Amino acid sequence: MLTEWNAYKRVPLPVASAKGSDLWLQDGRRVLDLYGGHCVNTLGAGDPSLGEVIARQWQRWSFATNLLDHAPRRDFQEAFAANLPAGDWVVFCSNSGAEANENALKTALAATGRRLVACFTGAFHGRTAAAAAVSDTKKAAFPQAPFEVLRLPWGDLAEAQARLDGRVGAVILEPIQSLAGVTIPPPGFLAGLRQRCDELGALLVFDEVQTGNGRLGTPWASQHYGVIPDLFTTAKGAAGGLPIGLTVARAAVAARCPDGLLGSTFGGGPTVLAAAAHVASRIASPGFLANVKGASASLRAAILGAGTPTKRNPVASIRGEGLLLGLVLREGESAAAVRDHWLSRGVLVGTSDDPRVLRLSPALTLEPASAARLASAIAESEAAA
Ligand code: PLP
Repeated sequence: MLTEWNAYKRVPLPVASAKGSDLWLQDGRRVLDLYGGHCVNTLGAGDPSLGEVIARQWQRWSFATNLLDHAPRRDFQEAFAANLPAGDWVVFCSNSGAEANENALKTALAATGRRLVACFTGAFHGRTAAAAAVSDTKKAAFPQAPFEVLRLPWGDLAEAQARLDGRVGAVILEPIQSLAGVTIPPPGFLAGLRQRCDELGALLVFDEVQTGNGRLGTPWASQHYGVIPDLFTTAKGAAGGLPIGLTVARAAVAARCPDGLLGSTFGGGPTVLAAAAHVASRIASPGFLANVKGASASLRAAILGAGTPTKRNPVASIRGEGLLLGLVLREGESAAAVRDHWLSRGVLVGTSDDPRVLRLSPALTLEPASAARLASAIAESEAAA
């Protein structure tokens, strides 16, 4: 007998199919998906042109060893480069966010010759050894970290400035901490860390697994905040639904590393890179990022009621940027209970590590008008309360 490892607490939602931001249930009901598969569904479910790209590449040349070059690699590099901050960058392709972070930290420590990594309370960077060591979750931890770790309080620049020193090789952070409850960096925090890293010769690493690929209304969070790291990582939405991890480094940083430091069997295969090239070019296409901002504004207006929020609206405030939003609930409300309530009214949202914060991370193609469906779910829940 084989049963699945009991790793996930699932939401009992019998989904039969999905299209765009709609989930169709087995009983024919339609649910608005404002969770977007953990930020993976950049273009929504079943995007027709992404499907065509994947099918075409699969027929032409499904997989290639990294010994061989292929056209999708060049197409991907060209499309991805168009969205990057200025400068010379190199990219290494792997298969997941955790792997992308492992590779970034390995690179940073090799390039600096140091063994200490600074990270932040509330952080989540994945479940493999190095990624777990810099994550703030006991559940994901190994008994021992593969390097020395300095954990700093998120958002406290003075404390970071005081405690970072010349032993630190890398400072890793999510520009917005998602799992922690969409906690945004205080003004000046990222710029202050950038400056301190420069003073110390430490490398600044942004984990853009969630904040990247257009989610904040700019291709990368670094462009939204105007602070450019030495390395950044992404995964989730970069190929719109196929597994991918990307470690992006300044060329000068990568040049300081020995050959053979990184490798992957599946990373950088033709089918996944054809998909990633398509996603990158869609992000750069006219109106795409404007839609992210428009849909974000519509959701904010819908949630806060646009008119007068009634006493029973469970949401007290909204934080985040673009289509990575945290809904902070009123005191006494439970995120899991509100999620279940809204789901019974046809809208799926996510919870977070903060029991009073719900997360929205829908497809970036979400139509602004669909925010009205969330407004009615809230209104129906209010009436029922
Ligand atoms: N970094 C961040 C910010 C994440 O949210 C996640 C996953 O949720 C990861 C890294 C790990 O990504 P993966 O599950 O693809 O290993």
